[in-house]
Amino acid sequence: MAARAKLKILFCPAEILEMQQFRIGTNLMLLLFQSVMKYNYYRRRSGWHFAILSVGVTTLMSACAMQRDAVDFSQGQWIDLTHAYESSTPYWPTASGFQLDTVFEGLTDKGYYYSAYSFKSAEHGGTHIDAPVHFAEGKESVDQIPISRLVGPAVVVDVSDSCSNYIDYQISVADLQHWETTHGEIEDGSILLFRTGLSDFWPDRKSYMGTAAQGESAVALLHFPGLHPDAAQWLVDHRNILALGLDTPSIDYGRSSQFLSHRILFAENIPAFENLAGLSMLPPRGAQIIALPMKIKGGSGGPLRIVAWLR
Ligand SMILES: [Zn+2]
Repeated sequence: MAARAKLKILFCPAEILEMQQFRIGTNLMLLLFQSVMKYNYYRRRSGWHFAILSVGVTTLMSACAMQRDAVDFSQGQWIDLTHAYESSTPYWPTASGFQLDTVFEGLTDKGYYYSAYSFKSAEHGGTHIDAPVHFAEGKESVDQIPISRLVGPAVVVDVSDSCSNYIDYQISVADLQHWETTHGEIEDGSILLFRTGLSDFWPDRKSYMGTAAQGESAVALLHFPGLHPDAAQWLVDHRNILALGLDTPSIDYGRSSQFLSHRILFAENIPAFENLAGLSMLPPRGAQIIALPMKIKGGSGGPLRIVAWLR
């Protein structure tokens, strides 16, 4: 019980802030102590002029390094790229939707308010992640994807004009090369996001995914844009992205039956984020992405909270 209470305190944001301040304070004291020791050492060896100069330079360098290490999230803006889960959330036609059941809601007989719910959901519905094992045997399940793959600088490719003209549009190698001509090469370690503009229609199934029908026969009625397999192959062969995401139900377009883009990317352990929101608020470069899925052991995907931080 005591250990539990301690854990709670450790994860309280205010406590974490205090811990960071304590760490910075400790580092400063250490820096001061090192400076005094260095001064005495250099003074004995080379005189006090040299001692002051050496200590000054090294202290300045250490202080700069400490400044670089500090992460200040207050100097920026958070953008939520996640749709909320609710009963109207679009799912693949063969999957049952999101279900939230009330366990208890209201005043207890002890006089305080209490609410608790249980939820039921397929892995692949709403804003979610596809783990590589979804289409590649032996590749990472959702709990095995390293966090370092889920956090990184965003590259946002806006293909909404092409998609508004043609709902079955497939994002091409030419789209990627055109973006690079304007904004520079997609750097190693980028999280590549495509804005098709489809999230404007969320959660209206008919306009978002081509059909509101459900069941196996409705799969043939799906229409929405996606990534062409040639573009997926080009990314694997010529670039080194961490992950990829878009604002449609699937990275392969709605007409796909072979899901080649999934298979090409997942064979390389590159996960995908689907049904994203708010991409119109991101610049082509400059946002930092944090995409943390529910950690389902052995899962092929799962609900994802994805946010962008923009300075
Ligand atoms: Zn999926």
